[in-house]
Amino acid sequence: MDNDVHKSPYGDNKINLLNLHYTQMCKFFVSIGEKKFCADQIMHWIYHKYCDDFNKMTNISTVLRKKLHDICVIKAPNFVKEKKSIDGTIKWQVAVNNHLVETVYIPEKTRSTLCVSSQIGCVLECTFCATGKMVFKGNLKVSDIIGQIWNAAKIINNDPFKKKRPITNIVFMGMGEPLLNLKNVVNSLKIILNYCGFNISKNKVTLSTAGIVPALDQLSSMIDVNLAISLHAPNNLIRNKIMSINKKYNIQDLLYSVSRYLNISKANRGGVTIEYVMLDRINDEVFHAEELAFILKKIPSKINLIPWNIFTHSIYKSSDFVRIKKFASILIKKGFFTIIRKNRGIDIKAACGQLIGEII
Ligand code: SAH
Repeated sequence: MDNDVHKSPYGDNKINLLNLHYTQMCKFFVSIGEKKFCADQIMHWIYHKYCDDFNKMTNISTVLRKKLHDICVIKAPNFVKEKKSIDGTIKWQVAVNNHLVETVYIPEKTRSTLCVSSQIGCVLECTFCATGKMVFKGNLKVSDIIGQIWNAAKIINNDPFKKKRPITNIVFMGMGEPLLNLKNVVNSLKIILNYCGFNISKNKVTLSTAGIVPALDQLSSMIDVNLAISLHAPNNLIRNKIMSINKKYNIQDLLYSVSRYLNISKANRGGVTIEYVMLDRINDEVFHAEELAFILKKIPSKINLIPWNIFTHSIYKSSDFVRIKKFASILIKKGFFTIIRKNRGIDIKAACGQLIGEII
């Protein structure tokens, strides 16, 4: 088992079970002289009953409960603040090592999505994104990522009025670049997908990336989930200017890597999601839409046009609705399934690219 899995992030030497995916949990129980199936039982208590107290795990022997109490904890990072939008979106601030990350719950008519963070800040510094403006403070651990879902699910499920739709979808679209925290993100995904974990179908879990090509190539042999690509530009000239990562991995290299992932993936049968933020007069001209359609010709894809969300000190302006509609209509005419993403939680700064962990 990985060494860091044994380390507790909470200053004592106890193992935080939220760091272990199913196989690791099985190995852990064998390593302490117990049967593998204890992993199923414990994970059931943790992820299906949201129980963090070994004493309440009644189908586990008292001896094992005592042993677990002595060597383990089940500990998610604290949700320190909650902010609710008029549209039903909820943003939580989560304290991790004296820093704040953010998690956003987005209820819709037929589903509810939780948007989770994978890093404290982001190193990519895309010019149109607020997260890139904050100082990067490090990767989140598996327990920090899983803890966001665990806490949020507990809050949603315990709603006294039972009015909140339980979380059906998870998107890695919060703070950070998931592929720059590959190992912890993949191990978290394993817990999200596993039948003893959150048991969410791979079709309902989306990892969004700015395109870290070597990590994306590795990902296909590690896990199968929905992929979303933050493309945001139809050519390298524009992309270099707004996403400096493009100077390292350009559009062509990225799209080759996406094709390789799609060839193996079963989760992406409907195609990869292409995210395209609409920046007024920068990437939103008619010829940009045509260029975009051309470069995506061979990639099965669904295009999400994202009205740009404002944040303080930014130089950008969102394309207006008329320009966005026009852009969408060109893509649709070319045969692309295209939607204009509804921006949710703008009033609480919970929308795409607005997450900076500021004190609210
Ligand atoms: N680093 C990953 C995960 C972030 S997901 C990625 O780049 O995909 C957040 C999505 O919102 C990304 O597509 C990002 O480019 C987009 N985004 C960032 N800032 C935005 C803003 N101000 N308005 C709208 N979308 C934005």
